[in-house]
Amino acid sequence: MVPLILFIAIILFCFYYFTRSKKLVLPADSVSINASELEKNVLFYSRLSPEEKKHFEEDVLDFLQRIKITPVNTTITDTDRLLIAAGAVIPIFYFPDWKYYNLKEVLVYNDTFNHSFESAGNNSRDIMGMVGSGYMEGKMLLSKPSLEQGFGNKTDKNNTVIHEFVHLLDKSDGDTDGIPELLLDKQFILPWVDMIHQETKKIVEGRSDIDPYAYTNQAEFFAVVSEYFFERPDLLKSKHPKLYGILHEMFRTPN
Ligand SMILES: [Zn+2]
Repeated sequence: MVPLILFIAIILFCFYYFTRSKKLVLPADSVSINASELEKNVLFYSRLSPEEKKHFEEDVLDFLQRIKITPVNTTITDTDRLLIAAGAVIPIFYFPDWKYYNLKEVLVYNDTFNHSFESAGNNSRDIMGMVGSGYMEGKMLLSKPSLEQGFGNKTDKNNTVIHEFVHLLDKSDGDTDGIPELLLDKQFILPWVDMIHQETKKIVEGRSDIDPYAYTNQAEFFAVVSEYFFERPDLLKSKHPKLYGILHEMFRTPN
């Protein structure tokens, strides 16, 4: 009898200890979701319905619990972490259960950096963000100023965080080629490639308000116009209705 009581006591203790410790242990990068910061800084979030906002906050929390965010020679605030997670959630918000399985860590540099990941010194260091490959596979690099400017400036069409996460989305089919096959029904692939050619022609001829960096290649085109789509949707819709229409199909946005 005594061993049985002892056995039950051990089980109860283990159960208590396990559930108790589970509540106390929080992930290192855990932050509480500050809805007013999202409302203030993230246009996409501010336009969502109350139910969608709740869903967005859950996605942000899930991202912060799964992905490590590491400052490099700098410090970052909870708002910085929140904005990185918001930039990650925006492109995939209408894809239920989508996760960035190809990402483990986001490194935040104090300034723009070069291809050797140096953010100090006199070498050319004009990179604002980058998706790592090779030995940097699974990592994303962001510069802190571009993170702050991306969400802080409400009248430009740029957001480096969204740009880099769109590259990751593009990469999920194996190629960062500007043709996100997982997002795009086969019927839209040819019209999309055709659209890229038409719009880059206008950029080259100086007849477009799309950032000329989009002309670099198809992958950059996709990332740049996606920034425009999420940062200034109304402007894109009025200036480039066809481009807006195809991005709306791709990202499955409701309106
Ligand atoms: Zn890019």
